[in-house]
Amino acid sequence: MVKIVVIGSSSMDLVVTSDKRPGAGETVLGSSFKTVPGGKGANQAVAAARLGADVFMIGCVGDDHYGAAIVENFKQNGVDATNVEPVTDAESGTAHIILAEGDNSIVVVKGANDHVTPHYVKKSLTLIKQADMVLIQQEIPEETIEYVSEICTEHNVSLLLNPAPARPLSQNVIAKASYITPNEHEAAVLFDGLSTEEALKQYPNKVFITEGKDGVRYHDGEKEVLVPSYPVEAVDTTGAGDTFNAALAVALAEGNSISDSLRFANRAASLSVTKFGAQGGMPLREEVEETL
Ligand code: ATP
Repeated sequence: MVKIVVIGSSSMDLVVTSDKRPGAGETVLGSSFKTVPGGKGANQAVAAARLGADVFMIGCVGDDHYGAAIVENFKQNGVDATNVEPVTDAESGTAHIILAEGDNSIVVVKGANDHVTPHYVKKSLTLIKQADMVLIQQEIPEETIEYVSEICTEHNVSLLLNPAPARPLSQNVIAKASYITPNEHEAAVLFDGLSTEEALKQYPNKVFITEGKDGVRYHDGEKEVLVPSYPVEAVDTTGAGDTFNAALAVALAEGNSISDSLRFANRAASLSVTKFGAQGGMPLREEVEETL
């Protein structure tokens, strides 16, 4: 089993459905409410565990009811949460989601995720040094991404950076990450001033731009390649990106070629969109292999 260390966010999604979205100062009646564990870091950790990796999460939750539920969810999915600490001076991260009129509105409160600082991550340095792959996203402080890219380079550990949500990155981080996986919007922010073609050519076998149902595009050193995704009946695309990143991390850590790893990631992510919910749709290893 490969060892994947995820450094990132975990949160509780509070999801309300309503026929009507309330305007400013307005109160409406909703039709349902549920809480679902989420956060890009947590989602990717759960996806990687379902795909058969030995997964260790480094993150922070609040010392509250949601924090306990988030940690329990890690345990139920086989993710080691020893390095997910409750902090006393912030609430657990939450996403407040209204599903109404065929679309969603979301307010994210980062809470304890802002406590995933370089100082905090450094406490798990021994674990990080043993990883076959470190997986990181951008729902934690920017200086942590910078720090993790430094230590991974220093200790020769592969680093897969999923630059979501979109924000510009320093040249230093771009140079130090082993793999970078923006979607089209994130790529435009990251490589401002470069066309997709130019960005891919500049970072062959390193930058993989995901294009939803079309699949993923990269440059193999000789030419640009589109690895198509699999046609499926999409029900809910939430978490497609998270499943893709987790699957890519697992496949690359196992030593597969880039093209085989991208095919595996496309297959896993395409299966994830056939079911509701981010974590709800994440497939097991067998399901991916049976349909590859
Ligand atoms: P999200 O934010 O919705 O989780 P994203 O914007 O980060 O996703 P996308 O490029 O939309 O990322 O999707 C990631 C990968 O998921 C794609 O490269 C593809 O493999 C798979 N995928 C997404 N949507 C579909 C779909 N409708 N059919 C098949 N595969 C899909």
